[in-house]
Amino acid sequence: MAAHDPVEQKYVYDFAEGNKDLKDLLGGKGANLAEMTNLGLPVPPGFTITTEACKAYLTTGRKPDGLAAQIEAHLESLEREMGRRLGDPDDPLLVSVRSGAKFSMPGMMETVLNVGLNDRSVVGLSNQAGGNDRFAWDSYRRLIQMFGKTVCEVPGEEFEHALDEIKRAKGTHNDLDLDADDLRGLVDVYKQIFAKHTGREFPQEPREQLDLAIRAVFDSWNAERAVLYRRQERIPADLGTAVNVVTMVFGNLGPDSGTGVAFTRDPGSGAQGIYGDYLANAQGEDVVAGIRNTVPLQELEQLDKTSYDQLLGIMARLEEHYKDLCDIEFTIERGKLWMLQTRVGKRTAAAAFVIAGQLVDEGLIDLDEALHRVNGAQLAQLMFPRFQLDHEFEPVAKGIGASPGAASGKVVFTSARAVELAAEGESVILVRRETNPDDLNGMIAAKGILTSRGGKTSHAAVVARGMGKTCVSGADELDVNVPAKKFTVGDHVVSEGDVVSIDGTTGKVYLGEVPVMPSEVVQYFEGELDPENIDDALVRAVHRIMTHADGARRLRVRTNADTGADAARARRFGAEGIGLCRTEHMFLGDRRELVERLILASGEREREDALAALLPLQRADFIEIFREMDGLPVTVRLIDPPLHEFLPPLEQLAVNVAVAQERGEDVAKEEALLAAVRRMHEENPMLGLRGVRLGLVIPGLFAMQVRAIAEAAVAVVRDGGTACPEIMVPLVGAVQELETVRAEAERIIAEVVGDSGVEVLIGTMIEVPRAALTAGQIAEAAEFFSFGTNDLTQMGWGFSRDDVEGAFFWRYLELGIFGISPFESIDTDGVGRLVRIAAEEGRAARPGLKLGVCGEHGGDPDSVHFFHEVGLDYVSCSPFRVPVARLEAGRAAITTTGSDSR
Ligand code: ADP
Ligand code: MG
Ligand code: MG
Repeated sequence: MAAHDPVEQKYVYDFAEGNKDLKDLLGGKGANLAEMTNLGLPVPPGFTITTEACKAYLTTGRKPDGLAAQIEAHLESLEREMGRRLGDPDDPLLVSVRSGAKFSMPGMMETVLNVGLNDRSVVGLSNQAGGNDRFAWDSYRRLIQMFGKTVCEVPGEEFEHALDEIKRAKGTHNDLDLDADDLRGLVDVYKQIFAKHTGREFPQEPREQLDLAIRAVFDSWNAERAVLYRRQERIPADLGTAVNVVTMVFGNLGPDSGTGVAFTRDPGSGAQGIYGDYLANAQGEDVVAGIRNTVPLQELEQLDKTSYDQLLGIMARLEEHYKDLCDIEFTIERGKLWMLQTRVGKRTAAAAFVIAGQLVDEGLIDLDEALHRVNGAQLAQLMFPRFQLDHEFEPVAKGIGASPGAASGKVVFTSARAVELAAEGESVILVRRETNPDDLNGMIAAKGILTSRGGKTSHAAVVARGMGKTCVSGADELDVNVPAKKFTVGDHVVSEGDVVSIDGTTGKVYLGEVPVMPSEVVQYFEGELDPENIDDALVRAVHRIMTHADGARRLRVRTNADTGADAARARRFGAEGIGLCRTEHMFLGDRRELVERLILASGEREREDALAALLPLQRADFIEIFREMDGLPVTVRLIDPPLHEFLPPLEQLAVNVAVAQERGEDVAKEEALLAAVRRMHEENPMLGLRGVRLGLVIPGLFAMQVRAIAEAAVAVVRDGGTACPEIMVPLVGAVQELETVRAEAERIIAEVVGDSGVEVLIGTMIEVPRAALTAGQIAEAAEFFSFGTNDLTQMGWGFSRDDVEGAFFWRYLELGIFGISPFESIDTDGVGRLVRIAAEEGRAARPGLKLGVCGEHGGDPDSVHFFHEVGLDYVSCSPFRVPVARLEAGRAAITTTGSDSR
């Protein structure tokens, strides 16, 4: 192809030609070497072969046209600049050949040092170094070792064994005790190892060494571990790596030489200061390889004050230039400092916030940029309690870290027992094989949830994540026996009341109590810490950045809350209303009996009685919630799930009936229930009699709920409060459904509200694809839409969540059909398109139509950005995710350009 190209593509860039913004082309390492060169920092001269060249090589299996000649030209100019020729026997130029992709992939790809050394130039190198034979042979043996291992796939252990062997013979552990003769001997042994494994002699020709090393770096892009790493880190597979050819500088020339790494701030805590390690008389890898003990960088001040001061100056300069934490690799060659690498350094979640705050204080960045530098995932991490694992604790099992955090407590096996013990003030861990919706109260009461089955998307995992509760799922070493109230793991038997600890990040399960530290960030959100007056850099930084996010965001953030307690917490966390209050949770527990009466009602009279009994209970629930949310909107969803979900399971009922009959007891009620359960059974409950369909089929059901809502609002207002209820009809697919419900609701509201001044909005969920596609019609009857993106995802894709997550999602993720589960982050192309259509057509039909989203996506960072972009008014998420949504909504509002800073 290049042959037809009039202008040959440029594949090689001198360091002086690049800059830090060319990471796509030059890789991170090459772009930053160029940047440092142009800043006038001491970088050994060299050039970068582009990722384009790598991609061409990887697709065709050979170097693209023109590449060889360009490398040749750049090498020649490098030789001229250095006044030495590559591998010259008398005065050799040596180079390193270093990989460097756009995103850093630590330890994944290859680097070869000392290219250009051979049997003759090793003597020249010694002469260059004033007759330092030891240094020359040490460098040569390193070349054979690295070249053998990375270019020719010689097993690295063989070289290491040979080195150990020679040290043992000498009676030392330190390779500095090996002299020139030892190392010359080692080179011979290395060459034999090389020949044995490759069937050829170690290549003596410097150009061949260079060529093979470049190819090896290209090839390392597709090494298995690199492929796995990319998949895990979601780095695209087609970027390719650049190759940097860099003049060698030597840290192994003696005690006045050395090599080190440094951070401009502590990447763990963000604290200011000098963090790094230094190793005298060593080359490259030795620092990280742990071969010899490094010293803290501060000690360099004693060893070589001039270089130390210069280094600190450069570090300050780099921070000022990159306006961020940098990490650095450097080498000192006989008192001369050389910079070998820098990049914006990785950091922990806490450090990300602290550093962003500090940089604002230092005037290096503004608050918009600080907000841009942190993210919701980091904030979420900071909100979980942690174990203090400084003591000796051995895990007994390892499951899936399904919902992060750390929790200790007494083991219980049923939801009821969890509620009982929690009421007595105990911390409990609910242990189940797997959980189901009936465990909800127990899950709320428990400190943590541990299951032996199910993955990251099981009921336990999903619900726990929503609640911000620690959960380990799928710990399959556990044999859980609920009736016997115990589980076994290995040789241990754990009974109800025994204490266990679970780590929802690592999935580890411990026996006994591991001490837990609460998150200071949550204490801050709870209002327990005064951010202006606290000596905690993290809390201060979080406060500052959150405040800025709140000022910047356009999206409002509401919460999903079904109880007054949830509502109160969410409000402390900054929720500006409730976007989803599920009424079905008000039908559980001791109210279940009333629901049974409703379902079993044989006539109008019995049904009305059951509804009349439910009415005051519902009203009381709403009063509590409206009070907590005083002045803020509360969207109440009319009952949504199929009614049979409130009845006991078929098998259990059948057994109860049989047992009772055996005993000669009166089973009339159980039999009636059993018959009802049989009658109401559905093959696909998700697509069955639920939502608005229930309201249209069961007379008085929705009416009772609407009345309870309106009466509660009036009661609150009479008490001097402000209630802003919004009634939401679920599962609407056609405007006629909504119109029918609306007509009845308006009549009741008018009757109840009278002249109290209460205003009640009526709107609908958009969660059936047909509703999204007919949103223009539906908007005629709706004052607001709330996107139920969970159902919209299920129905948009045509799968039921409970069935698919365990069955095939793993495979879809593996095949890349999903980049991420569409339940976790909204599928913008498909489901998101439905949202977009509905938003546009709904607003066209009714300007000012209020648009929101409820469902898990409301707390997912990427989804929040999407909802911002589509122009929704608010997102609603679980209380614990409210700060995350606030932060991301702020980020969405200020994000103008993409940045690869991380
Ligand atoms: P990685 O990407 O794994 O960090 P590098 O390409 O940075 O690999 O190289 C590994 C080590 O070799 C680093 O410690 C680096 O400082 C050192 N090194 C690389 N090139 C040279 C050079 N031209 N002179 C001296 N040391 C070098
Ligand atoms: Mg490096
Ligand atoms: Mg729904």
